Amino acid sequence: MVDLQGQYAKIKDTVNKSITQVLDTSAYINGPLVHEFQADLEKYLDVKHVIPCANGTDALQIAMMGLGLEQGDEVITADFTFAATVEVIALLKLTPVLVDVEADTFNLNIEALKKAITPKTKAIVPVHLFGQVANMDAVMEVAKEHNLFVIEDNAQAIGASYTFKNGKKQKAGTIGNVGTTSFFPSKNLGCYGDGGAIFTNDDALAHIIRGIVNHGMYTRYYHDVVGVNSRLDAIQAGVLQAKLPNLDTYCDARRNAARFYNKAFASNANIITPTAKSNATINCGEICDVCDCHVFHQYTLQITNGQRDELHKHLLAEGVPNAIYYPVALHAQKAYKDARYKESDFPVTNHLIKTVISLPMHTELDTEQLEFITNTINNFVK
Ligand SMILES: *Cc1c(COP(=O)(O)O)cnc(C)c1O
Repeated sequence: MVDLQGQYAKIKDTVNKSITQVLDTSAYINGPLVHEFQADLEKYLDVKHVIPCANGTDALQIAMMGLGLEQGDEVITADFTFAATVEVIALLKLTPVLVDVEADTFNLNIEALKKAITPKTKAIVPVHLFGQVANMDAVMEVAKEHNLFVIEDNAQAIGASYTFKNGKKQKAGTIGNVGTTSFFPSKNLGCYGDGGAIFTNDDALAHIIRGIVNHGMYTRYYHDVVGVNSRLDAIQAGVLQAKLPNLDTYCDARRNAARFYNKAFASNANIITPTAKSNATINCGEICDVCDCHVFHQYTLQITNGQRDELHKHLLAEGVPNAIYYPVALHAQKAYKDARYKESDFPVTNHLIKTVISLPMHTELDTEQLEFITNTINNFVK
């Protein structure tokens, strides 16, 4: 699904130099490289504060702790996402409220979001799934109207931008009150271990969060709030600092592969290719290079003739890596079942879990590989 070895071969010297610098100085924790990477990322994202932490799940948890959400507060998020998003809500004894998604973008359905709001609702967590930014015009409008926090789960869309209906463009993760990301190796900006970060333009919130990641300390050995220990280690920061200048090129390479895939499947009546939308009304069609609305963390097809599971097995037998993200809706997971949910609330998610299949997507895909993958699929799904 990814080719980390091929990517590393091209940046080996820079990455190794960064890592060696850490080893030579023994500044393993909170060393200068962590601060340099933090500043580089703030500049890249055009956001006031980046607070690095240990992984993307911690980033979500810490963001929610920083906002002062309390037991029983309802937090609305998408039914179709990786479990980390709902996990931290439950872990903090907040009440997760899952809502259905849109069939084209796989992101929060705004009508479902509006219907789920109650007097207890305190926050919305849009997940920019597979690299496509959610409908942030609408999310921000709903949040403003109901006085809710917005926490963007940007683990899959770092480098993507959102173009508001008024033309204003902003990087994903910097639009809501707070945004989070993951530097897991297979993510679009991945390190060689675990890592994550929190973004915000809110000075007061940034201050609170900087204490929370460090045991709730604002002055050494004075613990003002209950915190956690969540750090990005310096070796990972070195890797990320070396890779960040390539992020836009990496996103372009993913979009190029997506364009090849889209073209190859365009005339297949049983395959729906992913949509790239710069906002709810502008569909980028042929995947433009201009607006960066989609960074293709995953390239996900919908197989509409009922052959998805057979295709999955066939591809594995033919040596084509592929994966089902995600095979079970979160509302149906044992850990997150709740009496409030009715199956009829989730028509789209319930459909997607049976039709989606994700293809190899990374920065090193070449034409020969793409031809083999698309021919194998088009010869099977007819
Ligand atoms: C990967 C991911 C996370 C969690 O990140 P980790 O670094 O693995 O903890 C959270 N949300 C989404 C949508 C993700 O894809």
